[in-house]
Amino acid sequence: NKQSWPRETRSTCCYCGVGCGVIIESDVEHISGVRGDPAHPANFGKLCSKGSTLHLTARPEQRLLQPELRIGRADPRLPVDWDSALDHAAERFADIIATHGPDAVAFYISGQLLTEDYYVFNKLAKGLIGTNNVDSNSRLCMSSAVSAYKLTLGADAPPGCYDDIAHAGCVFIAGSNTAFAHPILFRRIEDARKANPKQKLIVVDPRRTDTAQAADLHLAIQPGSDVMLFNAMLHVMIWEGWCDEAYIAAHTENFAAVRQAVQAATPQVAAERCGISVADIVQAARWFASGPTLSLYCQGLNQSAHGTDKNATLINLHLATGQIGKPGAAPLSLTGQPNAMGGREVGGMANLLSGHRDLANPQHRAEVAALWSVPSIPERPGKTAVELFDALHCGEIKAVWIACTNPAHSLPDAQKVREALAHAEFVVVQEAFRDTDTVPFVDLLLPASTWGEKDGTVTNSERRISRVRAAVPPPGEARHDWQIAAEFGQRLAQRLGKSALLGYPDTETIFNEHRASTAKRDLDISGLSYALLEEAGPQQWPLPASANAGTARLYADGRYPTPSGKARFHAATDLPLAEDTDARYPLHLNTGRLRDQWHGMSRTGKTGRLFSHVDEPLLSMHTADMAERQLANGDIIEVTSRRGALVLRVSTSTEMSTGQAFLPMHWGEQFMRGLGANALIEGATDPHSKQPELKHAAVQVSKL
Ligand code: SF4
Repeated sequence: NKQSWPRETRSTCCYCGVGCGVIIESDVEHISGVRGDPAHPANFGKLCSKGSTLHLTARPEQRLLQPELRIGRADPRLPVDWDSALDHAAERFADIIATHGPDAVAFYISGQLLTEDYYVFNKLAKGLIGTNNVDSNSRLCMSSAVSAYKLTLGADAPPGCYDDIAHAGCVFIAGSNTAFAHPILFRRIEDARKANPKQKLIVVDPRRTDTAQAADLHLAIQPGSDVMLFNAMLHVMIWEGWCDEAYIAAHTENFAAVRQAVQAATPQVAAERCGISVADIVQAARWFASGPTLSLYCQGLNQSAHGTDKNATLINLHLATGQIGKPGAAPLSLTGQPNAMGGREVGGMANLLSGHRDLANPQHRAEVAALWSVPSIPERPGKTAVELFDALHCGEIKAVWIACTNPAHSLPDAQKVREALAHAEFVVVQEAFRDTDTVPFVDLLLPASTWGEKDGTVTNSERRISRVRAAVPPPGEARHDWQIAAEFGQRLAQRLGKSALLGYPDTETIFNEHRASTAKRDLDISGLSYALLEEAGPQQWPLPASANAGTARLYADGRYPTPSGKARFHAATDLPLAEDTDARYPLHLNTGRLRDQWHGMSRTGKTGRLFSHVDEPLLSMHTADMAERQLANGDIIEVTSRRGALVLRVSTSTEMSTGQAFLPMHWGEQFMRGLGANALIEGATDPHSKQPELKHAAVQVSKL
C-alpha cells in the first residue's frame, strides 16, 4: 500500500539511560529518519546528537548477515545455516557441561539488550543449565549505585524522577559530565535554571567539564576523594545544625556510627585531601541542606574500587537532611546504558534472581525455582564480569557466550581479556556488527537484530518502562537476541535430557512471565501490560494490579523496604585509590565519554557527522604538565601504565588540573597503537558491587 509509506513507529533511543522516546520513519525495509517523540515523558520530543542520527547507523554493509563458524582456531570462519550453527553450539556446550560441570560455561550479556532478551538468557543459565555464571556489562556501569541503594534504602530502586529537576532548589551533580553523557537531562536542568534563577547547581568533578562550567559551584576534587568530601559536608551539617533531626529520628538508623565516622572529616582536613577550599565545602553543605536537593551521579562514583562507599556517603547527606521522598529531593543515579535497570529487574546478573530477588537468599531461590518449574536454582555464586574473564583466563570456565557487548574493548586490562578469549575452548558471540574488537576471537558468530528491528521493553534511570518497537525486519538472516538464546536452549535441553523451558512465541509472552515474577516485590508491575503501554505510554514502576498509574517518587511516607522499615546510614571513611601515582607513573588518568560517541563506537563510529565534535582520540593534559615534558599540542606521545601502553596525540585542555590526564573511552586499536584506554586500567573491583575502577589508572606520558 503506497499510501502507508513512510511508516512511523514509536520506539526508544538505544543509547543512554535517559531513555528518550523516538519516532522512526521507515519504508518497507529501510529506516529513513528519526525524530523525538513529543509524547514521551523522558524527552518531550527532544533528541541529542546521538539520538537524532540513529537512522544513519547500522547500515547493511556494516552488519552481520549470516552465522559463521570455525572448527579449528587456525581455520577461517565460514558461513553456516542456523540449524548447523545452533546444533554445533549445543553440542559443544553439552560436552563441556558433561565433562566439567555447569559452571564451566558462562554468559556475558549487555545493558543494551531488552528486558525480554535478558529474561531468556537468565532463565537459560540459571534455570536450564544450572549455573549462575551470567553477568552483564551493566556490572561496569552502575552496580555500585545498586549496592549503595540496597545497603542504605533497602532496595535497588532510584527514588526520584526527572520531574524533580524542575522542583529542586539545588541540583548536586557528582561524577557525571551530564552535558555530554545524558544531554537531554542536562537540557532539563538548563530549562529549570531559566525558570528558577535561584536554583543552585553544584558539580563535583576533577575536570572542568562542560557540566562543571555551567555550575554555580564547581568542586574540582582530587581523584578518589569523594567520600572525604561527602563526609566533610555531613560534618558541617551536623556542626551547623542543618540536619533534619526529626527525620533522622523517625525514619533512619545507624546515625550515631556515621556521626562518629565523619568527626575527623573536618572542612580543613577535607580541603587538604580534596584540593578545594574550606569555604567551598561549607557553601556546598549549606546549599545542599537548604534543598530541596536532587543528586545526579554516575560513573565518577560508580567506576571505583570504593564505589559503594561513594554512593552511600552521598545518600547519607539526603537522609541526614530529609532530602528524599518529596518533590525536588532525592538521590537519583544516572544509568549509563539504555537498559541496565531492566536487566536487574529480571535478575540477569551473577548475584541476582528474577524480580529483584537475591541469589544468596534461599527463600528467593525457592520462589524462582517454583516460578520456572525447575527443581532448584543453584546456590553457588556466579562469576561477576571481571571474575568471569579471570576464570576464562585460568581455564576454570571453558566456554563463554557473549551477546550484544564487546568485552575485548570495554573490560579493564584489555590484554588479559584478549588472552582469556584466546584461552577459551569455545567462544560464541551474537552481535549486530561485524567489526568489533571481540569478533577476531570468536568460534561461532551469530547475526543479531538491533535497534529499529526488534520488539520489547526497556527501563530508564527514573524506573520508567518504555516500549521498543520494530520498524523494519532484521537484515539477511539476523535473528532477535531472545530468539537465538531460546532456540539454543531448546537444543541444549534435548542433549542434557532436561525439559525445554524456553518455548516463547513472542516478546509479550516473555514480558508477562517476567511481570508475574514481580508480584508483591518492590518493583511490582502486576498492573502493567503491553496493552497499557500502548494506550497510556511509558510507565514508572511500581505499578501493582491495584494502581491506575505508575509511581513517580518512592519513600514519600518515610518507610523503607528494610527489616526495620527505616533507612540505614552507612559509615565509611576515605580510602586511597586502587592504584596510586608514584615517581614512575606520576599522573592520574581519568577516562570517560565524549558528547557524540557511544561505548566502543560500533554504531556511532559509522556516522561521519558524529566526528565533527572530536575526530580522533586525544590525551588531554594541563599546559604545565605538557611544558614539563616539552610537549606541544598535537605531538605524538606514549602513555604508559603498569599494564600497557598507547601511542596517540596529546592536546592541552583548560578542563584539566595539574597532575591529571583524560582519555576518551571510545577508540580502540583501529585508531591508535595499543588496545584503547582500558589497556591501561587495572581490574581492581569494589568489594560490595564487584564493579571495576575503570575511571582511574596511574600513568606516565612521554614524547615519542
Ligand atoms: Fe538517546 Fe540519551 Fe541522547 Fe536521549 S539523551 S537521545 S536517550 S543518547
